Amino acid sequence: MDMSRRDFVKRCLLAGGTLLVAPGCGLADEPGRAGQLAEDAEVGYVKLEQEGKLAERVEQAYEIIRGCKLCPQGCGVNRTRGQRGFCRAPERAVIASHQPHFGEEVPLVGRRGSGTIFFSHCSLRCVFCQNWPIAHKGRGRETTDEQVADMMLELQRIGCHNINLVTPTHVLHNALSATRIAARKGLRIPLVYNTGGYDRLEMIKLLDGVVDIYLPDIKFMDGEQAKVYTGGAEDYPDVATKAVAEMHRQVGVLKTDGRGIAKRGVMIRHLVMPNRVSGVRQFVQWVADNLSEDTYINLMSQYRVEFNADDHEKIARAISPQEFLEAMDWAEEAGLTNLDSRSVAQRDSFRRRWGD
Ligand code: SF4
Repeated sequence: MDMSRRDFVKRCLLAGGTLLVAPGCGLADEPGRAGQLAEDAEVGYVKLEQEGKLAERVEQAYEIIRGCKLCPQGCGVNRTRGQRGFCRAPERAVIASHQPHFGEEVPLVGRRGSGTIFFSHCSLRCVFCQNWPIAHKGRGRETTDEQVADMMLELQRIGCHNINLVTPTHVLHNALSATRIAARKGLRIPLVYNTGGYDRLEMIKLLDGVVDIYLPDIKFMDGEQAKVYTGGAEDYPDVATKAVAEMHRQVGVLKTDGRGIAKRGVMIRHLVMPNRVSGVRQFVQWVADNLSEDTYINLMSQYRVEFNADDHEKIARAISPQEFLEAMDWAEEAGLTNLDSRSVAQRDSFRRRWGD
């Protein structure tokens, strides 16, 4: 990106009134870094704060938890008075960990990692949950929004490419509030909303302009399967597809910078499950028909028997190489062109060993 030094300084000042807080406003380690940081100053939540709109979103979210409808469970409990609903989450966020993460998709990880913040509890509660001590048992430490903001700033300071909010649906009020506090203290890296996909359309609309990168799962395409393998969320396919369509409307397909690092857009995950219970063929066709063929799709092969999956015969085993290969073939047949590089590498490896 061409930009004079004077323009760069001006844009840094406009973005937050400080040249020193954004990591590397010291500029040194990579060619073109000055231009990069100027782009960082354009992350959605900063612009919204400059326009005076972010505070309203925080207020709206805190109002919603007085008769909680943050997620489609719609419990109606007053979380500001200590009541807890289906997710078991209190008013304050419970955090299991915050750290640079190198296991996420390559465009999120880059060289320095994705700055993950793992929120405990969950409003979907899948029977095969791989994070069950955190999601089901609520393991973690209760924190204030100010403390969550400090975690964000720490992740930025150590060089993470983004702030990756993991399972934020039921703590949206905390996530918004913490983002605002951190933005006012100099947070300037993209915000990733990493969700299981069970998100009310109205809540995703509340995030319009705040979130830069949406990272949703679409786990099931059939309500009967969703009902059995989650905490009874028969409406999951309808809810998730509407939410993801809105995410796509807001931020579009994935855009990366010159280094291949994600800046803005939607990245969708789908865990391939045994016996076709997730509906992968319907999923890839839905993406092609309703979003666009160049939507970033990660078909994941790492399903394993966790938590209560053993109680369900159809999902009480790992997937076979053939199940993963047919999933990738369906994605290609649907015309999808932006498949996650590690999925493609896994497919190629399976083809060499088990393909025709
Ligand atoms: S976030 Fe929790 S309390 Fe609120 S509606 Fe969802 S499950 Fe119920």
